[in-house]
Amino acid sequence: MEIEELYSRFQVCGTVTTDSRHCPQGSMFIALKGETFNGNAFAAQALAQGCRYAVVDEPEYARGESYILVDDCLQVLQQLANYHRRQLKTPIIGITGTNGKTTTKELVSSVLSKKYKVLFTQGNLNNHIGVPLTLLRLNKEHEMAVVEMGANHPGEIKALVQIAEPDYGLITNVGKAHLLGFGSFEGVIKTKGELYDFLREKGNATIFIQNENSYLNAIAHGLHCVRYGQASGLFVSGKLLSCSPFLAFEWMSERNTYPVQTHLIGAYNLDNALASVAVGKYFDVAPEDICEALSTYMPQNNRSQLVDTGRNKLIVDAYNANPTSMMAALENFRQVQAPHKMVILGDMKELGEASLEEHRKIVGFLDGCRFDRVMLAGPEFKAVASAYEHFDNVDAVKEALEKSKPVGFTILIKGSNSMKLSQLPAYL
Ligand code: ATP
Ligand code: MG
Repeated sequence: MEIEELYSRFQVCGTVTTDSRHCPQGSMFIALKGETFNGNAFAAQALAQGCRYAVVDEPEYARGESYILVDDCLQVLQQLANYHRRQLKTPIIGITGTNGKTTTKELVSSVLSKKYKVLFTQGNLNNHIGVPLTLLRLNKEHEMAVVEMGANHPGEIKALVQIAEPDYGLITNVGKAHLLGFGSFEGVIKTKGELYDFLREKGNATIFIQNENSYLNAIAHGLHCVRYGQASGLFVSGKLLSCSPFLAFEWMSERNTYPVQTHLIGAYNLDNALASVAVGKYFDVAPEDICEALSTYMPQNNRSQLVDTGRNKLIVDAYNANPTSMMAALENFRQVQAPHKMVILGDMKELGEASLEEHRKIVGFLDGCRFDRVMLAGPEFKAVASAYEHFDNVDAVKEALEKSKPVGFTILIKGSNSMKLSQLPAYL
């Protein structure tokens, strides 16, 4: 079936779903395949639950008029999303980077929502499926869209920008993550830079760029740069006021200074916040509204959440970890004023050959911090043998916490999601 015909059917449906457990009435089901499932097998169920059409890519599942047989469902999802995006022409801001994509996406969206009707990526749906699903939620009412794009392999951002065709770009930063997939730090830079490459080819495009980031500046040639950072005289200049543990900062624009108290933990969020100020200001959101959006935003989903258990105060950052974000979190925690400080760290995954070296660096950094208690979990931390308490996995940490029952600590919890450290608050 031609894309035009598919698109007209999508328009009748108005929405797509790839999850047979969630089938809005009249929607279009697209059967994707995963490592452990074949969406084709759920097509009949999706139709029974109210989908109008089921797009399948295996002939034996195409059993009547409501079925649309295509060569490759994933490709169709992506083509449909791109076609839809072209029809609506909504200005799109594409956000990528090693750390802080979701936070920046949320902050930018909160700020822009003060003035515009904004569509933005839900949660962390930032990959080859999440990006098209986000775009297909665009409708005529949306005045802007903010789309998060993630990558752990070269070429991934290129594929995503070809689907989303952003008009504006924002790379939060480049750091060490997914080195296994990228091969090297240069590989990381090149891949994130695919967003800039797309915009450069498109011509006359604008990016929002952290002024002090030399890696980003080195690849930003030929683009119109809107700068934010800590130097004075930028489009948006900002300064950290305090971070104990919540970030307070001020930003300057023309002759005015605006102080903002946030609910964000971690000095590294200054850049994320300034990025959103720059976008807001560029699109004429009133300064007071920018400040209000930032001061009322609450972080979610184990991303630097502050939890008071009654016994201890926890900074739960158990959603992901890589050398850059781990170091940023530790550096920030080092500066937090508290009588008794403890860190519980889990392994950082997907670092390939650099893994042991990166874990060793973290342990070296810990040596200079003098926290009252350090608990390390996972085989990588174990392999770099340190003087700290060490555990094979989260269950062993739980056992130790049940025995020692710490009270009165401020505790940083950070590790890769698969280390499951998000289970620890119940034991603290
Ligand atoms: P993912 O790759 O999982 O989508 P992300 O890039 O969307 O991650 P966030 O979810 O916003 O990133 O933040 C995850 C963690 O990264 C934070 O909790 C924090 O530890 C760290 N982080 C966020 N922003 C920065 C930054 N600007 N510099 C360094 N580390 C950061
Ligand atoms: Mg994210």
